[in-house]
Amino acid sequence: MIASVIVDVASKQTNKAFDYLVPAPFIPTVKPGMRVIVPFGPRKVQGFVLAVKGDTDVDTSKLKAVEDLVDVKPALTGELLQLAEWLTNKTLCLQVIALKSMLPAAMRASYNKRISLAEGVNEQDLPEELKTFFHKNGSVMWDEVKKKSETLLGAVQKEIKSGRLFVEPVVKSNETKKKTNVVQRVLSTAEANEHAEALEKKAPKQSEVLRFMEEEPIAVARLLEKTNVSSGTVKSLVSKGFLTQFEVEEYRDPYEGRDFGVSKALPLMDQQKTALEAITPTVKEDRHETFLVHGITGSGKTEVYLQAIDYALKKGREAIVLVPEISLTPQMVHRFKERFGSEVAVLHSALSKGEKYDEWRKIRDKEVTVAVGARSAIFAPFENLGMIIIDEEHESSYKQEEAPRYHARDVAIERGKTYGCPVILGSATPSMESFARAKKGVYNLITMDRRVNDVKLPHVDIVDMRDELKSGNRSMFSVKLLDAMKDRLEKQEQIVLFLNRRGYSTFVLCRDCGYVAECPHCDISLTYHRSNQTCQCHYCGYQVTKPNRCPECESDHIRFFGSGTQKVEEELKKVLPEAKVIRMDVDTTRRKGSHEKLLTAFEKGGGDILLGTQMIAKGLDFPNITLVGVLTADTMLHIPDFRASEKTFQLLTQVSGRAGRHKKPGEVVVQSYTPEHFSIQLVKEHDYLSFFNREMYFRKQGEYPPYFFVTLINVSATELTKVVSVTGKIADYLRSSLSETTIIHGPATSAIPRIKDRYRYQCMIKYKNEPRIIHVLQEILKTYQAEMSRTDLAINIDTNPYMLM
Ligand code: ADP
Ligand code: ZN
Ligand code: ZN
Repeated sequence: MIASVIVDVASKQTNKAFDYLVPAPFIPTVKPGMRVIVPFGPRKVQGFVLAVKGDTDVDTSKLKAVEDLVDVKPALTGELLQLAEWLTNKTLCLQVIALKSMLPAAMRASYNKRISLAEGVNEQDLPEELKTFFHKNGSVMWDEVKKKSETLLGAVQKEIKSGRLFVEPVVKSNETKKKTNVVQRVLSTAEANEHAEALEKKAPKQSEVLRFMEEEPIAVARLLEKTNVSSGTVKSLVSKGFLTQFEVEEYRDPYEGRDFGVSKALPLMDQQKTALEAITPTVKEDRHETFLVHGITGSGKTEVYLQAIDYALKKGREAIVLVPEISLTPQMVHRFKERFGSEVAVLHSALSKGEKYDEWRKIRDKEVTVAVGARSAIFAPFENLGMIIIDEEHESSYKQEEAPRYHARDVAIERGKTYGCPVILGSATPSMESFARAKKGVYNLITMDRRVNDVKLPHVDIVDMRDELKSGNRSMFSVKLLDAMKDRLEKQEQIVLFLNRRGYSTFVLCRDCGYVAECPHCDISLTYHRSNQTCQCHYCGYQVTKPNRCPECESDHIRFFGSGTQKVEEELKKVLPEAKVIRMDVDTTRRKGSHEKLLTAFEKGGGDILLGTQMIAKGLDFPNITLVGVLTADTMLHIPDFRASEKTFQLLTQVSGRAGRHKKPGEVVVQSYTPEHFSIQLVKEHDYLSFFNREMYFRKQGEYPPYFFVTLINVSATELTKVVSVTGKIADYLRSSLSETTIIHGPATSAIPRIKDRYRYQCMIKYKNEPRIIHVLQEILKTYQAEMSRTDLAINIDTNPYMLM
């Protein structure tokens, strides 16, 4: 038998599968989708089996053999293997990258070496310093020796040369399964009782254990707890042969010990009913269709998702629900757990690698039927999908910014076609692309423009901060916002304060000469971190202590500008000393579970004001929040990105939606330096449609999506002249091979011209209809492939860029 294998060799920039012989003992096991260890040149590497076949056109006597198996069950299903191929073509990545991206991080292997005693060699034959390593099982890992002392590696290598030791590479697997010690009774109940009686006098504890135990195995820890005996007692019973002890695999349940309660399907409101009735027939008929649920915040979209999933599950099928990482807040997870209980696996970045692996394994082993997770959960290895839901479909976190540069929406639709199942995109502020498609009838548009129980949308006020300054208010809070906050504190209602940090960090500026502290490796200003008094680069991690004098002019008028959440918190203490503030940002949520703790504290009334960044914009649904303040509405308007207005409108709408979701009416105060901008004005009107129409006009003018497709080619290297010349040649080639109606910008420097000492240039391609585009781009990669593996030249192509920097 022959296996065709995609090898995991980064330098070998190839998409070709290589053939390997499958040795007889592996033949019954090896299947497509499995990972194997194969020899590749002088090394042993990991690879994915794409197919197994009877013969090959290559001379089999020249073939090398599969060395070992990594998996005993395929890691990827046949469908995912096909999807990887599609992904490879669509995003122009290497096949192995596509394959690896479908696995949980814990399964991406690294390499280690095992050193073992050669045949007939005893540990006693070794030099003194090495002996200890081998008496356990005759072998030791390279890393373990290295950890002890690097000099020992020399002694090891000497022994390898002389043949007393030998070394073999092994793939270091990160997949640590959690094991639990259990014991089980070997005796029948009658026998156990007999022995218990006999032991009654001499060993009452042992007797007690025998009586306590039932037929099923029990975890040792639990047994000790229940019977209050020592582990010695259990050991004696094991050595007497009354009990056997062994290990079982256990899933680490990240939500262990938590009671989620049970929620029942709610009787639906009219618009919810209409939505559900549009979706369910497609499940019944195994028909793929993409729905765009345009539902304002609080219109009850989530309840529709829950009932649609329930319908699919009852038809014996499975469901994937994608939510943006930041809205994987406990609240959202609870809603799914409450409805579907142990049928739900949750995949998100706050889980440990091991937990993530366990959740993934539950999906592969068909122990759950619903996967809720962030972007990469779109690859959940279900084989009978009946529904895919993408909540907040406009979120840019659904786009992966490294290879494979895919958008989860595209993957969802591809899988939806394969399984003949619906894809449901939901948002209060759909992306321009999706709404345009829905208007054209490519997607099926479902509108939910009323809140559940007709709760009113909050009243939104926009405050011109320039006027505040003119009238002498230098504080970061407008009079309006401050008054509103005082009012809520009096009424004991809760406040959410939102600080839009993106593109607005605290930088260091000299008031005398205008010097701004920049990273010496990246052309970007450094961010001031108050907590440890440093300036840090957010691209490369470069860090210096904050300067007290300007390095340019020696002036001591060097100041920190911008406002971080810490600064706002300090200000709040001054103006509202009685308010209890809970701050939520990257600093206060670094520890696992802290996110949830802070939110719970706030929900239980442990805070008057929840102050935070992007991470509080979504998912919060607390009845006592009646005021939302946005401190800096327009910071995102000025980033060099054609989606800047769209992002601003979406974010402000999301944040506003946190206020007054229940009985008490909500109010929103938006502070802005450019209040006349339509993306801010239309938030006040809650008017997505007008926003869409206005923005479409600008997209048309600027020849941007959804009118044009955009591809971005980024070229980088440490040598500027090389970057310029390569980008120039690429631009020439594009101009000569693409059609005349296609627009090519560049070569031009990227918005951030240098990151980590690498210069960055780009070409942007805008086209309407260009059937040859993928082929042309592949040609470019092929042309530079050799140079890229030989030098530090990198060419990244993104066929649907979301980050234009
Ligand atoms: P969205 O996801 O559109 O923002 P949610 O699904 O969170 O809206 O619903 C808003 C609130 O209304 C939630 O508290 C939810 O429990 C409640 N809700 C949703 N549907 C119903 C219903 N049919 N009857 C009563 N309450 C509902
Ligand atoms: Zn200066
Ligand atoms: Zn840097």
